[in-house]
Amino acid sequence: MNRLDVTVEDLKEAVLENIKNQFRKTIDQASKEQIFAALAFAVRDIIIDQWIETHKTYDEKDPKTVYYLSMEFLMGRALGNNIINMKVDDVVKKVCDELELDLNVIEDMEPDPGLGNGGLGRLAACFLDSLSTLEYPAYGCGIRYRYGIFEQKIIDGYQVERPDEWLKNGNPFEVRRDEYGVEVKFLGSVRVLKTANGRDKFVQENYQSVKAIPYDIPIVGYDNNTVNTLRLWDAEAIVGFDLESFDRGEYHKAVEQQNLAKSIVEVLYPNDNHYMGKELRLKQQYFFISATVQQVINKFKQKHNDIRELPDKIAFHINDTHPSLTIPELMRVLLDEEELEWEEAWDITTKTCAYTNHTIMSEALEKWPIELLSRLLPRIYMIIEEINRRFCLRLVDEYHLSKERIHNMSIIMDGQIKMAWMCIVGSHSVNGVAMLHTKILKNEELKDFYEIYPDKFNNKTNGITQRRFLLEANPKLADFVTGLIGDKWITNLSHIKNLEKYVDSEQEQKEFMKIKYENKLRLAEYIKEHNNIEIDPRSIFDVQIKRLHEYKRQLMNILHVMHLYNKLLENPDLDMIPRTFIFGAKAAPGYTRAKLIIKLINNVADVINNDINIKNKIKVVFIENYNVSNAEIIIAAADVSEQISTASKEASGTGNMKLMLNGAVTLGTMDGANIEIVEEVGRDNCFIFGLSSEEVIKLQHDDSYNPWDLYNNNADIRKVVTQLINGFYAPDDPDLFREIYDSLLNGDGGRPDPYFILKDFDSYKEAHKKIDIAYANQRQWAKMVMLNTANSGKFSSDRTIEQYAKEIWNLEKTTVVMETN
Ligand SMILES: *Cc1c(COP(=O)(O)O)cnc(C)c1O
Repeated sequence: MNRLDVTVEDLKEAVLENIKNQFRKTIDQASKEQIFAALAFAVRDIIIDQWIETHKTYDEKDPKTVYYLSMEFLMGRALGNNIINMKVDDVVKKVCDELELDLNVIEDMEPDPGLGNGGLGRLAACFLDSLSTLEYPAYGCGIRYRYGIFEQKIIDGYQVERPDEWLKNGNPFEVRRDEYGVEVKFLGSVRVLKTANGRDKFVQENYQSVKAIPYDIPIVGYDNNTVNTLRLWDAEAIVGFDLESFDRGEYHKAVEQQNLAKSIVEVLYPNDNHYMGKELRLKQQYFFISATVQQVINKFKQKHNDIRELPDKIAFHINDTHPSLTIPELMRVLLDEEELEWEEAWDITTKTCAYTNHTIMSEALEKWPIELLSRLLPRIYMIIEEINRRFCLRLVDEYHLSKERIHNMSIIMDGQIKMAWMCIVGSHSVNGVAMLHTKILKNEELKDFYEIYPDKFNNKTNGITQRRFLLEANPKLADFVTGLIGDKWITNLSHIKNLEKYVDSEQEQKEFMKIKYENKLRLAEYIKEHNNIEIDPRSIFDVQIKRLHEYKRQLMNILHVMHLYNKLLENPDLDMIPRTFIFGAKAAPGYTRAKLIIKLINNVADVINNDINIKNKIKVVFIENYNVSNAEIIIAAADVSEQISTASKEASGTGNMKLMLNGAVTLGTMDGANIEIVEEVGRDNCFIFGLSSEEVIKLQHDDSYNPWDLYNNNADIRKVVTQLINGFYAPDDPDLFREIYDSLLNGDGGRPDPYFILKDFDSYKEAHKKIDIAYANQRQWAKMVMLNTANSGKFSSDRTIEQYAKEIWNLEKTTVVMETN
């Protein structure tokens, strides 16, 4: 059936039938979780016909398809998004009215699928939404982790991690596809045989293997008939426990394979922008890449006789280096199974693969030990060695590079394999994620590679989907925008520029600010319920929500709060607009310093929130378990968006884009996509401070930063820094935060703080003062925030995906046609 033909009666019937058949209950007896499941299944059933039709169309037209390979997809909840993209929201609302259900409450029953850490995983999710909406044939490919990103609890101010049991009640939107299962092999050894025609044949022996089984999740385009697929791989043991037929040795093998399968997909590694050389992580990477590559080639061969046409039909996109084994795995299939010669296989591979770089921080670069990779994936390692041998030969023969430069560029060096280097060599495209980031790649970090491959390098500034982050997250503002300029912005965000006509109108300013106020009330209720803290919806909501990382400088933010509190203690009548500082951040469980910063934020919050002398002028709130679902509530309510990373460290940032779209002003450094935000909205409509990336890079180069000078010469700095070790925020344990104190003044291993927190502190403080002054003029402020919304058009992931499709993947749109009654 066509989604446009669905009636209230049909859908109501479907919900009631689902409750009856699945739970043996009537609607009055069903729990909220059961009603959620019943509605989700009913919505899925509407999606299914379009999903089938989409793949029928792809089958007939055989268009080029992109496979977006990513270890992370931070999807957020599906039900509300599917209802909106299918445009069945009116029908669903009427069904809920008739059944006396609150749709928001039902939607809250869905666990938030958190199969990602932060920006990288959320980018993948936004890209899928845009690909379907823009009618590009696409698959997202990843891992069906049993446990996604941990659930964060704050206990006594400390982060405590709990397992995320998102599959506990099943997932109504997934479909298991046994027929596409493939075998993935690990360990063992490679035997080289000679074939009749004298060719070497490579056979992996004594391996352990697992069966990869895909679960498909529909990705619904907005108001079209396209439903693409997120394919998440689960692992199962190949051999069951058929005990009698096993001799002793095989029994052990069966148990090993069972354990291997179970462990591979167990849990998402909770590190953001940080490499950890764990064997299980490498297994995860090869598992989903080998499964994807094999399955894609199988499917390709059903339609095509000539494997050389692969790049005309398939694009593999490598999201950071985590899926980098795509390159040697595709080579393995082309060499060992398709029996191509090396040159031909290499030509196909480089034309098929493209790579996105997400960071330049050295601690995030993946470097697998030879010992580990060659043991776990013996044939893959042989291929990487050969890729590197030929690459280094070319550097000598064609480019006549010096020994030193070849040493720096070699994929294999000092016992390690540099995955980013392999991606650059094995892809036809290497892109950064914001203009500054790409510039730094070309001129600094990847300069050597840029010189020999200038044409591979390009920029694709990140984006976010306005369907989730405005239409769904902020329905009031979405309606307001549509009322003024029509609804074209939903699928073409550049239209939102038309809002500029209204920024001087007092009536529209008032309406905009009223909507912001209502969203602030909604967040205040959430905070009352979750934190039991009363916050003033008329205060400035100053928001920093993102993973906790030293380079993102949540520490600088809380030090400034401590400073402001000092000022208020000196003068409780200080003339300032009340401010609510809102934090949301998960720290990697092993990142001790990040976790201590969370504790500091919570201790500062405790002291300040309970001090009646400062007359509620500041409140500090740490929102537990920051995820996509609560991001949607926080973003709609934000006045100020803190984007304060040390310049040059944040590759792009996408949180900044969501906040800008929702009418928050940026308080930020000239880093990542902030630079492009400033370019779009104008410097007057942002609060920019701090060192530039050039200044940071220079200071790092000549090692001239001395935080002690600032400590000695700046009383405000000295006061807050001292409060880290005098028990002011930890009376029972004055040394609790000494580690943070040391990081600011003495740095690590004698190197002063590489994030330049004290260096930027003064200009950060001044920027905050400017915000206080600007907010006091409410009309001026309203104009400023409206200009931010109006100039956010560039930051739609639709724009980003159009660029990828044209400039990297060479995709064409494929419209799916469906009859209506
Ligand atoms: C957008 C988003 C991020 C990325 O935020 P940055 O500020 O760009 O680091 C991280 N987590 C969630 C849940 C998000 O929605």
